[in-house]
Amino acid sequence: MKGSLYVDCSGFRGILINQALKEPFVSFQEVLLNDRAVALQVPYPNDRSDIEPFTSATALPSGWVWNIPLYNRVGTGYVYCSQFMSSKEAESELRAHIGPRAKDCIANHIQMRIGRCRNAWVKNCVAIGLSSGFVEPLESTGIFFIQLGIEELLRHYSGPTTDPDVAADYNRIMADCIDGVRDFLVLHYRSSDRADTPFWQATKEISVPPSVEQRLQLWKKRLPNERSINPCYHGFEFYSYSVMLLGLNYRPVDSLPALRHSSNVSAALEAFQEVRDRTSELVRTLPGHLEYLQYLRGTRKSSATAEQRDEITA
Ligand SMILES: Cc1cc2nc3c(=O)[nH]c(=O)nc-3n(C[C@H](O)[C@H](O)[C@H](O)COP(=O)(O)OP(=O)(O)OC[C@H]3O[C@@H](n4cnc5c(N)ncnc54)[C@H](O)[C@@H]3O)c2cc1C
Repeated sequence: MKGSLYVDCSGFRGILINQALKEPFVSFQEVLLNDRAVALQVPYPNDRSDIEPFTSATALPSGWVWNIPLYNRVGTGYVYCSQFMSSKEAESELRAHIGPRAKDCIANHIQMRIGRCRNAWVKNCVAIGLSSGFVEPLESTGIFFIQLGIEELLRHYSGPTTDPDVAADYNRIMADCIDGVRDFLVLHYRSSDRADTPFWQATKEISVPPSVEQRLQLWKKRLPNERSINPCYHGFEFYSYSVMLLGLNYRPVDSLPALRHSSNVSAALEAFQEVRDRTSELVRTLPGHLEYLQYLRGTRKSSATAEQRDEITA
């Protein structure tokens, strides 16, 4: 069967883009070390009233564990580097981390191809999704790359004959995006102070491009702003950088000198206190996460007031 445009969505195998068209794959392995994952679907105990309303990423000796509480089960997995740990060791470390609830769960071992195709659009073939590129799921960007790939294809595709300039522009946008996310992920490892195992020590020795190194040095002195982050579109704004760095205790050594001349410091402190007070009140009075999910699914009546319900669904 003949077609005018082929979309390669064959996952890590890249059947059209890499295997048929021989487009080279640019590996990120030197800067993003993790290349394996082992996943488990863990059931809740009978009483799941403590279901968490957030996903979490927890550092382990050779990588990190994701924990995604769904309504009927928890999705969890260990992302790790095969240079530092075998798949057997990773599975047993993950099971030990989860505890007895993991006992009868079947492990799914995944090899990850980390990097991107040199070009995602070659001739009349456009790779979208894992066939185009992938970085480890620390910031859960896989579906974002797919969405961007589709949006940009719609913006660029103009008919059966591929215009090389148009394809080049598409390739630049997709490469800038995935490279930008790569650098953002590298920053997580470089700015964290964990270095107690061979894996975490190796993350401190990653050699990063000079532009990233310069930013890291700058952000020891000033928090990121719109103009100091990577200017190419990659889905993350300056505040994403700030919360990531602050969360890892990578804090500027000093505050902005201009703040010393501001008479509004007490107003800012009051605003922070108001946020704290409001947070405590909501935590005290709002329904638990399970109750809220049951309310959304129509299996339980809400105990929240009408005002609170409006606030939650707004
Ligand atoms: C460990 C891990 C965690 C992730 N976490 C997240 C996350 O939190 N958030 C997020 O957005 N993304 C995440 N991703 C990325 C996520 O997997 C992708 O966004 C999405 O599943 C990719 O879809 P895809 O279609 O590109 O590839 P796939 O889901 O791999 O689909 C490719 C399909 O092509 C089929 N195929 C291959 N060869 C052939 C053939 N010859 N003939 C017919 N069919 C074929 C395969 O069977 C498969 O069904 C994660 C990925 C991994 C590995």
